Amino acid sequence: MLVMSKIYDVIIAGGSISGLLAARELSSHNGISVLVLEDDYEVGTPEHCGGLVSMSAVEKLQILPSATSIQNKVRKAKILSPSNGFDIDAGNQKVIVLDRREFDKQIAFEAQDYGAEIRVRCSVRSVVELTHDFESNNINDGNIYLVSTSEGEMKCKYFIDARGVGSIIRKNRTGALQTAQYEVYAPWIDSDAIEVKFDNIRFPGFFAWIIPTDSGKGKVGVGGRAINVVDALKSYLNSKGSRYNIVRKVYSPIWVMGPLESFLCGRKYLIVGDAAGQTKPTTAGGIFTCGMGGILAGRATANAINTSDQELLKEYERDWFLEFNSEFKKMLLARRLLERLDNRGLDEVFASVSQSEIDFISQSGDFDFHSTALARVIGAKKATSIIKSVLSNELRRLFD
Ligand SMILES: Cc1cc2nc3c(=O)[nH]c(=O)nc-3n(C[C@H](O)[C@H](O)[C@H](O)COP(=O)(O)OP(=O)(O)OC[C@H]3O[C@@H](n4cnc5c(N)ncnc54)[C@H](O)[C@@H]3O)c2cc1C
Repeated sequence: MLVMSKIYDVIIAGGSISGLLAARELSSHNGISVLVLEDDYEVGTPEHCGGLVSMSAVEKLQILPSATSIQNKVRKAKILSPSNGFDIDAGNQKVIVLDRREFDKQIAFEAQDYGAEIRVRCSVRSVVELTHDFESNNINDGNIYLVSTSEGEMKCKYFIDARGVGSIIRKNRTGALQTAQYEVYAPWIDSDAIEVKFDNIRFPGFFAWIIPTDSGKGKVGVGGRAINVVDALKSYLNSKGSRYNIVRKVYSPIWVMGPLESFLCGRKYLIVGDAAGQTKPTTAGGIFTCGMGGILAGRATANAINTSDQELLKEYERDWFLEFNSEFKKMLLARRLLERLDNRGLDEVFASVSQSEIDFISQSGDFDFHSTALARVIGAKKATSIIKSVLSNELRRLFD
């Protein structure tokens, strides 16, 4: 007897925030069969994330983080240039530190509660569109995708790529920076304050950070363009004090060049999250923006399935761009400006930020849409003239 393999409505490659939220959204619509394939042996592991997110973002993702998912609440942000800096009171922005190992499992649990299947240690190797399904001898009315995995071949009507940054880097390497992040025990980690340190020699194009998870514990990392992140992180840790122990090391690329032009790659093939470049070009933060990608992709796919109208898939990219495009464009611009400043320029810009600008950012800054705060720093009267002079020097060099 011929046993035909199941054709899922949707297969999602990647069981992290964007893939799992797409799965939760899809399976919450009755009757839609969803399979999530995760390469790693455990959802949420290895954690390649600082876990910084605002409570309002988590609410928009419709997740109530469990007590074990929240590692800390952040009260202050120290923003430093090589020799200057200022403190922002982060109390108003309600920023928390998540344990992604717990948080992602919580979303996986919600998705399976609605009926999604999740398989770990199952790697997607290739995806091919079939127009004729030989097994059932059917000419498909729409396409069927044949998904080759480490556990054999599987079939689906819609495919969602949520395979993270590796997926976009395969298309374009130039928008990626390398990072190292260690879990560190050290007496100099202040449980109340995150630290962000800009230095365009040590961390060109990015920064170093400390994200406390408790008193004396935290995630310390560096990122940058064409640097040895192991050496850069070692020197950053040593600059903080001689006493520290590293209990976990993670190395991962990040994407800072903004979203792909389109998130649709074939008639029923969608790309979400880091794989679609949905991380903030300034900080490479993606819990919120990638998570929303997952939800919007899941919603549009469910509507397309329920109405047999594939045109509805376009609502996914329309809605994501409506929410984030203007903010991402401003962040990209701010990134370009900051990358072009040397350390002296950075110091001068930081020194020019007045107390009233700092108070404004503390009171009305938005962690998720932070281009307004950045504009206050870069746009401060004195800073603008410094940036202008740096850029005009560059222009002059063009004609030398
Ligand atoms: C060091 C670092 C710190 C960060 N800190 C923050 C932060 O503080 N706040 C914030 O908002 N964001 C942060 N981010 C970004 C955030 O982690 C990502 O934007 C977010 O996790 C993206 O989610 P995703 O689901 O799109 O992709 P990912 O989380 O990258 O997940 C992709 C998943 O796909 C799986 N996969 C890959 N290939 C295959 C395959 N072939 N088959 C099956 N599965 C596959 C992977 O195992 C992985 O589970 C940080 C990133 C890094 C690297």
